[in-house]
Amino acid sequence: MARRQHLVIDADDTLWENNIYFEHAFARFYDYLGHSTFSAPEVRHHLDTIEIENIKIHGYGAENFSRNLRQCLQALSERPIAPEDLERVTEFALDILDHPIVLIEGVAETLTALSERHELVLFTKGAPAEQQAKIERSGLDHLFDHAAIVREKDVSAYERLAAERGFAVELTWMVGNSPKSDINPSLRAGWNAAFVPHERTWSLEQTGLENPGPGRLLLLDRFSDLLRHF
Ligand SMILES: [Mg+2]
Repeated sequence: MARRQHLVIDADDTLWENNIYFEHAFARFYDYLGHSTFSAPEVRHHLDTIEIENIKIHGYGAENFSRNLRQCLQALSERPIAPEDLERVTEFALDILDHPIVLIEGVAETLTALSERHELVLFTKGAPAEQQAKIERSGLDHLFDHAAIVREKDVSAYERLAAERGFAVELTWMVGNSPKSDINPSLRAGWNAAFVPHERTWSLEQTGLENPGPGRLLLLDRFSDLLRHF
């Protein structure tokens, strides 16, 4: 595209791996729980219901995930729970914070090229301190004109961001892996969007893609495909 566009880009599971670490923490939790009858998907389902409720109050991130695991342990454990048990499952979640940032293939080169032609904004949801630390550790922050961390990426968050930045929606694109948080709400706010799937996207982010707005929707295979369009 010849004209300079505003490319607003998701972070977790779009720029770098994230959900695999939560899946790993859940696998450790499931082993530790050692339930006599519940399968891993059954325990996961129970945890999902806890997460859906807690996200409304506390939001996302590893610290909050640790609370969800503790509640799940208290709900499902077949043996008495000692303080050490709660500490142990807390560790499973907090270990996520120690992972190095692993960039998804092609991200660094693609962002570098895009930053020469377009305005780049990083747009992520979650615990501000956790997200800010990841941005800094990614080594990508210098490629972005702006970074915004919000509690929830819903339609009003997209409308607010466009208003704050003075973006004309027809020149503004959301790029991300989540239909629920990246693609559907940005299209509903009148933006354009580029969907970059990730095979390990968190189950709670998976919904159908919808495009009820006037914007364009690009379906890409990988992040570097952005260079074919921008
Ligand atoms: Mg994401």
